[in-house]
Amino acid sequence: MEKERLGIYIHIPFCVRKCAYCDFLSAPASREIMDRYVDSLKQEIRGAEELAERYRVSTVFFGGGTPSLLEGEKLAEILEMLSQVMTVEAEAEITVECNPGTLTENKLDAYRTAGVNRLSIGLQSADNRELRLLGRIHTFEEFLESYELARKKGFGNLNVDLMSALPGQTREGWLQTLEKTADLEPEHISAYSLMIEEGTLFYERYREDAHGYRELPDEDTDRLMYEDTKRFLGGRGYERYEISNYARPGYACRHNLSYWERTDYKGFGIGAASLIRNIRYKNNTDLAAYLNGDLSYESVSALSRKDVLEETMFLGLRKMEGVVLTEQMRKVYGELLNKLEQEGVLCRKNNRIFLTDRGIDVSNYVLSEFLLDEEI
Ligand code: SF4
Repeated sequence: MEKERLGIYIHIPFCVRKCAYCDFLSAPASREIMDRYVDSLKQEIRGAEELAERYRVSTVFFGGGTPSLLEGEKLAEILEMLSQVMTVEAEAEITVECNPGTLTENKLDAYRTAGVNRLSIGLQSADNRELRLLGRIHTFEEFLESYELARKKGFGNLNVDLMSALPGQTREGWLQTLEKTADLEPEHISAYSLMIEEGTLFYERYREDAHGYRELPDEDTDRLMYEDTKRFLGGRGYERYEISNYARPGYACRHNLSYWERTDYKGFGIGAASLIRNIRYKNNTDLAAYLNGDLSYESVSALSRKDVLEETMFLGLRKMEGVVLTEQMRKVYGELLNKLEQEGVLCRKNNRIFLTDRGIDVSNYVLSEFLLDEEI
C-alpha cells in the first residue's frame, strides 16, 4: 500500500522578547528550558511511531515563536528523531521560521546539514520606525544581514513575512516595504494585514475604543493596500496563490497548501494542532507540564460531514485556484453558489469555483456564508 503524505508541524514557543502585537504561544526562556523542551519534543515524536505505517512525511515546518533561537544541533536532533521514527521523503520541504538577529553562520550550516531547505524570515516592515513600534528585535539593516547570510549559505528558497495596515502606515509607506523586499528577489512573500488581538500591548493601544485607534489605516485603505500588494508583486513576477501569499513559479509553500487542502498533518510541541483522518487534536499549552513529560491533548474532536464540508470550502477558497466542485457541494450549496456568483464574488469555471477579486476584498463575508446551520 502506498503511504499517504503527511505534514509535520513543530512548535518552538520561544522568542527573544514579546512583540507588541503578538498573541502567539511564545515567550522568552533560558537555554536550559529550551534544551528540556527539545527533549520533550523528541519524546513526543518517538511516541507517534504508529503514524509511520500509514504515512510518509512530505513537509516539515518549524514554527513559533522563533525556531531559529534553537541551536542548530538541537534542531538537527529533532529532525534526526523524526527520520528515525517516520519515512521523510528525500524531496521533503523542510522550513524553519527565523527572525533576523538570531541567525549565525554555524547555525545555518547546521540547518543545511540537517536537511533544512527553506527559511521563512520575519521582516514585517522595511521601515525602522514601524519595526520599533511593532516591538521587533531587529532593524531593516539587520534583516538584510540575515537574508544575505542565508543566501551565502546556499538557501535557495526563502520566504519573507510582511505585515500591512500598521499604525500610521500609508499606502506609499507599504509600497516602499514591498519594493525593498521584492528587490531582494525572495522566492516567496507572505503579506498579511495586522490584526489587533486581545491580550497584547497593541490591544491596549489600538482596540476600537482606545486612544490610538484612529492611527490605524481605515478599512478602505487596508483593502487598497491588499490591491497594491497584488498589483506590485504581480509586476515583479510573483503569483498570488492564496489570499495573503505570493510566490515565484514553483515556490508555493507546500506545507501551508496542505492546511488549505486539508491533507493530514501532525503537530508536535505545546499548543500544536493535528488533523488525522478527520479528527482534530490540539496539544496542551502548559509549558511546565510538557517539560515534565505530560504530552496530553487539550482537545480532540471528530469532525462531522458538515464540519468537513465547511472546512473544505472556507479553507480551499482561500487558494486562488479555489476548489473542485463536487456533487455534494452542488447539492448542499447550490442556491448559495448561484447567489454569490450573481453578487460577483465567486466564479465558476471548468468545474472549479474560486473567489473573484471582489470576493477576495470581502473574503470574510464570502467564506462565512459557507457555514451551515444543520448537519448534512
Ligand atoms: S517574534 Fe513572532 S512569535 Fe515571537 S513575539 Fe514576535 S511575532 Fe510573536
